[in-house]
Amino acid sequence: MERLYLADAYIREFDATVLDTEGGGVLLDRTAFYPGGGGQPADTGRLEWDGGSCAVTGSEGDRLFVDGNPPPAGARVNGALDWDRRYAIMRAHTALHVIDGVAYKDYGVDITGNQLYPGRGRLDLSFDNMTRELAEEIIAASNAAARRGLQVKAYFISREEFAARPQLMRVAGHLYDKYTEFRIVEIEGFDMQADGGTHVANTSEIGAMVLSEYKSKGARNKRIYVDLR
Ligand SMILES: [Zn+2]
Repeated sequence: MERLYLADAYIREFDATVLDTEGGGVLLDRTAFYPGGGGQPADTGRLEWDGGSCAVTGSEGDRLFVDGNPPPAGARVNGALDWDRRYAIMRAHTALHVIDGVAYKDYGVDITGNQLYPGRGRLDLSFDNMTRELAEEIIAASNAAARRGLQVKAYFISREEFAARPQLMRVAGHLYDKYTEFRIVEIEGFDMQADGGTHVANTSEIGAMVLSEYKSKGARNKRIYVDLR
């Protein structure tokens, strides 16, 4: 299974071969559909082949869920992402990286959770206290950083390189044990973290971040909700 989205988040259409359709889930030899994970929802879209088509409604692991009859094993298919939705998720995903970068660098706090939606997201940060003023200050600093038009790059490093840079581990260390290679997402000169999701190529694509709500979810866990305009 070749994961096209890891190398290029902007692939919105691709050709592939169906390996099998066991249990109704379609397994392709290569895909640009993000399977879901890390707070980023699975992609949706369509598959088309000689003699048919079906909607892709989500994924479980590498298998695509489809609505309608799946293509037969061995078929050559064309996959197309619901691109407006995916791109809005990429913008939101990158926005949360910028906010997280500000929170980490300026306030020394970590992420304790996140969830992405098209054009919006929420981020849980390990603050003891959160006020509207503080939340607005973080969002203002994030907008200023994003407007600088910083490049966003993704690349792989070895376990040894990863271990030498503990600042890359933003979640509990043992969660990284199963990997031998790490994908790093870097906002140039601003933030780096281990990450398997899809992001925009430049922070100028994020647009304006607006604080929509903030909440306390307990001690050292404060939730910020952001909408993109
Ligand atoms: Zn990310």
